[in-house]
Amino acid sequence: MSYDQARWAEDDQYEPLLSEKFNREVEVDAPLPDDLMRDSLELPAPSEPELARHYTRLSQMNYGVESGPFPLGSCTMKYNPKFTEDLAALPSASVHPDRDPDTVQGTLAVMGRLSAYLADIGGMDAVTLQPPAGAAGEYTGVLIAKAYHEANGEDRPEIVVPDSAHGTNFASAALAGFDVVELPSGEDGRVDPEALDAALSEDTAALMLTNPNTLGLFERKIETIAEMVHDAGGLLYYDGANLNALLGRARPGDMGFDIMHYNVHKTFATPHGGGGPGAGPVGVVEELAPFLPTPQVREVQDGAGEGDSTYELYDPEHSIGKVHGFSGNWLVLVKAMAYIARLGDEGLTDASAKAVLNANYLAEQIDYEIPFEPFHHEFVASAGEQDAAAVAKRMLDHGVHPPTTKWPEIVDEALMTEPTEVENKRTLDQLAAAFDAVAAEDEETLDAAPQRTTARYIDQVSAAREPRLSWQALGNEE
Ligand SMILES: *Cc1c(COP(=O)(O)O)cnc(C)c1O
Repeated sequence: MSYDQARWAEDDQYEPLLSEKFNREVEVDAPLPDDLMRDSLELPAPSEPELARHYTRLSQMNYGVESGPFPLGSCTMKYNPKFTEDLAALPSASVHPDRDPDTVQGTLAVMGRLSAYLADIGGMDAVTLQPPAGAAGEYTGVLIAKAYHEANGEDRPEIVVPDSAHGTNFASAALAGFDVVELPSGEDGRVDPEALDAALSEDTAALMLTNPNTLGLFERKIETIAEMVHDAGGLLYYDGANLNALLGRARPGDMGFDIMHYNVHKTFATPHGGGGPGAGPVGVVEELAPFLPTPQVREVQDGAGEGDSTYELYDPEHSIGKVHGFSGNWLVLVKAMAYIARLGDEGLTDASAKAVLNANYLAEQIDYEIPFEPFHHEFVASAGEQDAAAVAKRMLDHGVHPPTTKWPEIVDEALMTEPTEVENKRTLDQLAAAFDAVAAEDEETLDAAPQRTTARYIDQVSAAREPRLSWQALGNEE
């Protein structure tokens, strides 16, 4: 595949910011007291075609799920079908969150049904839709664990997290005030019961587990693990970001998990928000339902005939309080609901089959070694003698998004790859060709990559530590 990313520039600068291109003095005429008024205001005032071109150019200088394959492992970057956007854009979907429940019964019914679907998918008894991201779901989940132990008069200050876990697991536990006990993985890349036994104690509040884990491996001893954690008096938390591998086939609740979060922007194809709105609903078993955030939605049967029910908001008895405004990011939840309803049981089960098939098909084609098998929805290859970050940069030149790199650390120079179920054989073959082309390239070529993208080698460390939130600032430095 041949590829050159667009490069829009004026006077050697990348596409200028709206404020740089179109700022105009705008007359202000508002019914405000004089002392609150400015005489004039400088605001970008582009015409519609100018605005459309500005954003189209920016999108052409970017790579997204609508440009090509995006196998960023653990992140589950899949194409978001447009019918969900149509539903979220319906005028009737935009309801003010402060409206009286009597006047928004349809909205509450959608929330109630989505909660019930998610509970069913995860094998949980109750669900909150409030957390705005996966990490926020984890934080909510560990706060629920904390409140539960406290209600039982127990002080359990530790949370156990395997070394293969996503960084947010460690962060969520620490943020909720727990000490994090890191669990070293066994030789097969899974939880080692002996190491787990050593980590568990009367201080253990919970074990946070991803299954299949970030290596794509299923924890075969999950029932033993659940028993061990419960015997120690702890709770079992499921990081549901990898639910793509299990959908319709197995349920965390049936494996013994007590709390879980869902990443609707991974599994249920709502957009990953570049920091924008997401949703990370949390499911719990019945015993933990009284601790869920407030408010919750419930269906109340009101007498008369069958189907005569209304929905109401209520505060769970021992609620941990709020973790986000109102009932969460409602329009994101509408998209998740639309996706689940459209696919149904069969469609969801089919999605997980294809996610696993695609990962295995792709892995068969590529030249890099894959140390841990058998994997499910994703695999972690090793770049071996090559630098995984340089491999990733070079893959961009071949017109595909690279995998996640250098994590999990149990694999040297890790290339964590998750093609997802949306790719077909043709795009999987393109991906494999990009992997193999890069595998055969020398160090000099890799170090000079990327060559064909709008922005060249980006200093990621400085970008994270000293963010400059302007595209222009990046252009000025080159
Ligand atoms: C993405 C991910 C998370 C965090 O989800 P966010 O919505 O990005 O906060 C947690 N665990 C795993 C395994 C993930 O892949």
